[in-house]
Amino acid sequence: MLDLLIIGSGPAGLSAGVYAKRANLNFILAEKEFLGAGQIMNSIRVDNYLGFYGISGYDLGDKFRLHAEELRVPFLIGEAREILPVPGGWRVIFDKGDVQEARTLIYCGGTRTRHLDIMGQDAFGRKGIHSCVVCDGPYYKNKSVAVVGGGDTAIDTAKYLSDLANQVYLIHWMNEFQGNETTLDKLKADSRVEVLPNTSVLMALGQESLESLVLSNGRIIKVDGLFEAIGALPETEMLKEIAALDERGYIKAGEDCITSAPGLFAAGDVRTKRLRQVSTAVADGANAVYSVMEYLRRFE
Ligand SMILES: Cc1cc2nc3c(=O)[nH]c(=O)nc-3n(C[C@H](O)[C@H](O)[C@H](O)COP(=O)(O)OP(=O)(O)OC[C@H]3O[C@@H](n4cnc5c(N)ncnc54)[C@H](O)[C@@H]3O)c2cc1C
Repeated sequence: MLDLLIIGSGPAGLSAGVYAKRANLNFILAEKEFLGAGQIMNSIRVDNYLGFYGISGYDLGDKFRLHAEELRVPFLIGEAREILPVPGGWRVIFDKGDVQEARTLIYCGGTRTRHLDIMGQDAFGRKGIHSCVVCDGPYYKNKSVAVVGGGDTAIDTAKYLSDLANQVYLIHWMNEFQGNETTLDKLKADSRVEVLPNTSVLMALGQESLESLVLSNGRIIKVDGLFEAIGALPETEMLKEIAALDERGYIKAGEDCITSAPGLFAAGDVRTKRLRQVSTAVADGANAVYSVMEYLRRFE
């Protein structure tokens, strides 16, 4: 049986991997994506991670991953599908039939994109409605696009698109935006950008692909693409019978990453916390391994 199994190689999982390696634990770090380094890889530019001002999210994720690889952190490519308590630890069943057992688990599964619930959504899922601007934004050079959301991701997405599209609409159902005010001010000053607070999208219309959006104020805007940036949902389906979750589905755990299930620790965006950022995820990875060490010592 392993000392530790870490699930997810985003910033939290990679940080946990680095600390676990240096603590000489017998462990594996499992990740479902080939060379995955978590959601930060979708960020266009990261300005708030200490020491790496202005780096692209992809490059930062790559550096995190390389750091772990240089220390020879043992990776397993696979999606954890089932987590079961067994005497003395945990059994994890992966998508390709792989089974691993460990005395402790650090779950760092992060979050996934939340999708809009509007009429027409299904028809245009892959023909005009997107959630990753780094992946799909370049298709909209000299076109008209809308971004829905009011936080950092929405503002960043609108900024990225404003550099290539002819027209960008930034649509938010509330009056106040919650993201970076400097970038928002730049968007407001850009003649190709229209910021629409107190507005929501009701319907997506088009023939073969997306052509226009019906807004809550009755206005119809012509767009070729729509980017959803309305937040995230925690990847905790597998854990709901195992550990206590909060009302939004995040795993209840404090800075020590200790959950309600003995031997199960939660690190990064997936746990209850005020601020979901790379810096807090990396800190969690370190704290979680510290808690794992304390837990294992009790049985020595
Ligand atoms: C567009 C965007 C821009 C951002 N910009 C910034 C920024 O500028 N600055 C900043 O500090 N933060 C930023 N963030 C937030 C930051 O990316 C997250 O806070 C951080 O990535 C959280 O790390 P994590 O390791 O907890 O989770 P994640 O990064 O979500 O990583 C979770 C990992 O777990 C894997 N996984 C999930 N389920 C399983 C499973 N069952 N089996 C195996 N593997 C699994 C996933 O594939 C993924 O690799 C941004 C986020 C987005 C989406």
